[in-house]
Amino acid sequence: MQTESLTHTDSEHDFEEELMKIIQEMDYFKVHPQYAGFQELHDGLSRRNVYALIKGKENKTLVMINHHDVVSLDAYGHLKDMAYDSERKDEEILKDIESNEWLFGRGSCDMKGGMAAELAILEKYSQISMKGNLLFLSVCDEETYSLGMRHAQTLLAELAEMYNLEYVYAVNPEPSAHIRQGHVASFGSIGKCLAMIHAAGIPSHISSIEKGINPITLLNEIIRQIEYSEDFVDHLQKEFSTPPVFNYYRDSKDYYDYSLAHYASASCSIMMFQKSLAEIASELKRKCEKGIQYYHERMEIKMKACSRKYEKRKITIYTFDELKKICEENHVLPELKLDEKFLFEGSRYIEACLEKVPWIQPCVIISFIPPYYPPILSRDINYGSTQHLATCLDHTLRSQNLHLEKENYFKGVSDGSYLRRFDHQDLTYLMYDEKEYYLDKRLKQDIPVVVCGPWGKDLHLRTERVHISGLCHTCPSIIETMIQELLEHEK
Ligand SMILES: [Zn+2]
Repeated sequence: MQTESLTHTDSEHDFEEELMKIIQEMDYFKVHPQYAGFQELHDGLSRRNVYALIKGKENKTLVMINHHDVVSLDAYGHLKDMAYDSERKDEEILKDIESNEWLFGRGSCDMKGGMAAELAILEKYSQISMKGNLLFLSVCDEETYSLGMRHAQTLLAELAEMYNLEYVYAVNPEPSAHIRQGHVASFGSIGKCLAMIHAAGIPSHISSIEKGINPITLLNEIIRQIEYSEDFVDHLQKEFSTPPVFNYYRDSKDYYDYSLAHYASASCSIMMFQKSLAEIASELKRKCEKGIQYYHERMEIKMKACSRKYEKRKITIYTFDELKKICEENHVLPELKLDEKFLFEGSRYIEACLEKVPWIQPCVIISFIPPYYPPILSRDINYGSTQHLATCLDHTLRSQNLHLEKENYFKGVSDGSYLRRFDHQDLTYLMYDEKEYYLDKRLKQDIPVVVCGPWGKDLHLRTERVHISGLCHTCPSIIETMIQELLEHEK
């Protein structure tokens, strides 16, 4: 924890050096140095993924993933300097410290704790002759854009080919919540996309507003249809996804003048269990249609009340894919340059496209911008081993006076999303720059995952902490159960 690795900074690089040193000190990797290494990201920050493989006799492989970056220290305020120090006392948390059951500090539960447990397992099993293989994989940038895990798809594909690895399961020991004595394990991870709605209105002088279309007013009506709408909420058994929430809304004017704005754009996060981007796009289209209808109705009433005549004009809806095609057909598609300011640059790119094809306006454009996390559900990938694992993990936890609180999806969004292959159809809806937003298509299999680690509290807050016994006993016993059941036993 004391070795800084703030997400999306070059301190991650230094941490990777430390981590590799720990791995190289293990006898196994002194004898087999070729099984441990870095995967360079070439991202300008010199960050790398770190991997270490214990090669068994068979192909079956368990992947122990973790991320080595931590979120910023902003939550610590004037206590920033103490953030990595688990020994320091603070009045507010004194009671918890005095229980002697918790270890505090940034990264304690999210997730240097889980990583440490995996390192201990790596060391232990490097001294045992194994049937299957154990792959330790520590990725960078999880807390920002998941650049590390997206690159790791390439590493997984290459290692599989080089050493004939068959990935049977992955464990991601992010902090687990406790529901009374229930230790939460998620056999899958929720999907998340960032939808952007762009309204191209008709600019007019403010004295003749009935001739124009104000994109701000239009977008308001559309947002009203989408935000918190139950039509975007997925459910499976007792689990529900969060409804869409808007987190960005701008018009295109950056100066004041006496006319309506030409464009306005807004984006929202949409979570999904099963839906593809295509399905979400068509639901968004229905909402936009309704928003446009309400816009016209309201304008007619308002203008009439103001003794003005409203000129109703057709507003067409296009997906980003459709807009791109129109630009391509007219040989005017602008070059896409998206770096990490996806929201801002994405909306400017749509405007650049619209400038080239003014005859399709007024209109509404539906697009998706990075980052995109596809949903993953382990039982859909391997029903048998998922059910078996749940039973065995419950058994293990019961011996520690706990039980398994099984859920289908980790709702906090995780790197687990990238253990499945991308749906090529989905990618056509996604506005991304191949040079900046890395996606690999070489992974040959989807890898089921369980997100389950030590009991942790207050992640991302200054009172972040990990339960010591959860870290030293529960978490390793979960991973060991997976090794026993998935690698050592014949199925
Ligand atoms: Zn985490």
